[in-house]
Amino acid sequence: MDGNKYRVGILSMQGATEEHASQLRNLGHEPILIKNKEMLKNADALIIPGGESTAIWRLMKKNDLIEAIQHFAQLKKPIFGTCAGLVLLGKGQVETEHPVNLGLMDIQVKRNGFGRQKDSFEANLDVKGMKEAYPAVFIRAPYIESAGEHVDVLAAYEGKIVAAREDNLLVAAFHPELTDDNRFLELFLSMVEEKVIAV
Ligand code: GLN
Repeated sequence: MDGNKYRVGILSMQGATEEHASQLRNLGHEPILIKNKEMLKNADALIIPGGESTAIWRLMKKNDLIEAIQHFAQLKKPIFGTCAGLVLLGKGQVETEHPVNLGLMDIQVKRNGFGRQKDSFEANLDVKGMKEAYPAVFIRAPYIESAGEHVDVLAAYEGKIVAAREDNLLVAAFHPELTDDNRFLELFLSMVEEKVIAV
């Protein structure tokens, strides 16, 4: 990281934000809790956390953040969607009458895809580019039902895609902020670094 310090926005509508903030601080970066579109302008990157995707969507609308986040993505600023954040970043959702999507990543998502029997669980994942298995915490997690040709699949669990990257967008169906393992956040920060160097 060469001591670079990034201002990483965490969308703070509803859901798990504080764990993301402390993980960022531990790695020497500055979290910004984003509550409106003005605050987004100060961020180098954005994390859309887990929570209830429908509730987050409603609050994003109310705070005029939908177009602002779409614009942020067009500027190629990195965005990391975790769990509900994965649902929101996608282009579509299967088996739902009321999809909530920013329409940014070329994925079709199955919300609550792992079903009720498995509301929350942990699994060691083989992740592309990581030497050791990654301990992932899933909570009422979605999965990616299908992904476009430009999407790089990073991990699957029981044959379902649970982590992927497309250009400046990264998604994980699990909660990287709930483990001490920083490797997913570090992967995201390396995308921020690439972007900052490219500018
Ligand atoms: N099931 C939630 C949703 O789709 C996501 C759960 C989570 O973020 N932990 O909104």
